[in-house]
Amino acid sequence: IGHVSIDVNGKPCDCGNVGCLERYCSANAIHERLNANPSIIPGCETMTHAQACAALFAKANAGNETATLLMLDVARYVGYGAVTIINAFNPTHIVLGDIIAQAGQPLLDEVTQVVRERTIPEIGRNTRITLSALPTDATVTGAAAVAITNFLEHPSMFFDVA
Ligand SMILES: [Zn+2]
Repeated sequence: IGHVSIDVNGKPCDCGNVGCLERYCSANAIHERLNANPSIIPGCETMTHAQACAALFAKANAGNETATLLMLDVARYVGYGAVTIINAFNPTHIVLGDIIAQAGQPLLDEVTQVVRERTIPEIGRNTRITLSALPTDATVTGAAAVAITNFLEHPSMFFDVA
C-alpha cells in the first residue's frame, strides 16, 4: 500500500501521485529526513537506507529525544497506513515488517495508538498488530517464492510452445 495517498497535497512521488504513504515512512523517506537534519545521525548521508534507519531506531531506543520524535512521527504514518488497511479489508492481523520492525515496541505502541484514535472501535480493536520477526528482506523472499511457485505449477505459461 506504499502508493496509497495519505495527503492529497503531499510530497510528490515517482509513481505520479502525491502524498503516497511511502513518501513518509519508507526506509528511503526516513533516510531523506535524516539527511535533511544530519545532526540526528552524523554521517547518515554516506549510509545505506537500512543503515540510517537502524541508526535512528537504535538512538531512539537509547533515549535520544530528537531521534525518538522522528521515530514516533514515522510510526504515526505507519499507523495511517494501518488505518487504511483496516478500513478497506477489516483484517484480523497486520504484521509490520521490513526495516520499521527494527524500531521495536515504541513504534508498535504508536501505531496501535493511531489505530485506536482513527478507526471505529468495533473494527480497529479486532485487528491485532504485531512486528515481524522475519529478516528485513522477507517481502522480497515472499515475492520470489510466489514467482517460483507459479513457474513450477504452470511452466508452459512462461514459454512459447507453439
Ligand atoms: Zn506513489
